[in-house]
Amino acid sequence: MPFPDLDPVRAAIRDVPDFPQPGVMFKDITPVLSSPDLFRRVVDHFVARYRPLRLDALVIIDARGFILGAPVALELGVSAVPVRKRGKLPYRTVEVEYDLEYGRSALALHEDALRPGARVAILDDVLATGGTARAAVDLVRRLGADVVECAFLIELAFLGGRARLGDVPAHAPLVYT
Ligand code: AMP
Repeated sequence: MPFPDLDPVRAAIRDVPDFPQPGVMFKDITPVLSSPDLFRRVVDHFVARYRPLRLDALVIIDARGFILGAPVALELGVSAVPVRKRGKLPYRTVEVEYDLEYGRSALALHEDALRPGARVAILDDVLATGGTARAAVDLVRRLGADVVECAFLIELAFLGGRARLGDVPAHAPLVYT
């Protein structure tokens, strides 16, 4: 499967200044979601990248990671495994606290969501400081699964999130410097 041209996706992403707090330039992907052509390009990009890697599961991060990742997992024919903010998952969880670009939070994963040794990619919309993805990596590893790569639609490279991920590869087709 060829990799789609994502230039029109990049052009559609809307910058919203000072959301959710002063100083943050929010990357709004809703104009991408509202266009089936653009949304399809994003899904196809990740399907093309992960099809050859023979994943067992795609871990998708609350909340925009769910939107982008669920159709990717379905198309790959692998488990969609949600990582959510603490208190949202109903069954027994493993949890980790982490720093955000704006604030502090905790993420949770169902303790039976991944089998030991499972090959997993983690997907979210934006890599900012990397705190969220780092926390998701730690959760996945706690269950003994193997993180092949962290994937994002957008990387805010000036925030240095990639370094936070250490030895875990990060993939992002749209990089902002
Ligand atoms: P971080 O943990 O700093 O890498 O932040 C990543 C998480 O926060 C992702 O789930 C993003 O959806 C969200 N996020 C952080 N900064 C932004 C931004 N500038 N625009 C859109 N989403 C962001």
